[in-house]
Amino acid sequence: MSNYWNPWHGCVKLSPGCKHCYVYRQDAMYGSEISSSEVRKNADFDLPLRRKRDKSYKLRAGQIIYTCMTSDFLVAEADQWRAEAWAMIKRRKDLRFFFFTKRIDRFQVALPEDWGDGYENVIVGCTVENQAMADYRLPIFNALPIRHKTIIIAPMLEKMDISRYLNNSILEVATSGESGAGARVCNYDWMLDIRRQCIEKDIPFCFHQTGAKFLKDGKLYRIPRRHQISQARKANIDYNLRRDLEMDFPVIERQLF
Ligand code: SF4
Repeated sequence: MSNYWNPWHGCVKLSPGCKHCYVYRQDAMYGSEISSSEVRKNADFDLPLRRKRDKSYKLRAGQIIYTCMTSDFLVAEADQWRAEAWAMIKRRKDLRFFFFTKRIDRFQVALPEDWGDGYENVIVGCTVENQAMADYRLPIFNALPIRHKTIIIAPMLEKMDISRYLNNSILEVATSGESGAGARVCNYDWMLDIRRQCIEKDIPFCFHQTGAKFLKDGKLYRIPRRHQISQARKANIDYNLRRDLEMDFPVIERQLF
């Protein structure tokens, strides 16, 4: 059984990191006739509550559920459905729901009244792609009552300083280059610099994938999709990833960027 839950599909491009959005690329690949910018409720919207013939839940207890991977959980066009989605998340305390968002400034919209300092079973990844987006989104993220937070730098578009936003509430920082035909170049030195910042604050760091155009030691490498994750692993620069958490917090679906 898959551990994905996509309550809605489609998204509106927002910032430079959206330029080659994987949702648009995937829809184009599968020849979808509906515009990727049209946000629509999926047929398996209520998947977390669905049961099998034997009455057990279709989504088996104890898993991380990657949530809203073909949209942004906080996209305005889904505001009408989000309260119901939160209600399902609350009901399935036996699952952990993980979503990442470029719209952390909309986190409070349709947030449940009993959210308090956060549901224990929710992990939120704040995605940033350049310094301007980091400087806008990460202070907002840091101020929010969320129990489990990760920072996702993807696609990394330039050298960035996020050190002032790193604190003990951050479980992990993950970096990725950009995939796809029009991918922008990602420089290995940028990754190493984020790694240094994480080490200085003792925050776990993960280099998830290289992207399609990867600059290292002044040489530009074109890396096929199937090797982008393995090449990042070969770099062997992850820092302090807790193996027990790695099982539970693989953090991002490694195919997406
Ligand atoms: S926010 Fe994410 S899903 Fe939405 S357009 Fe941008 S990259 Fe795509």
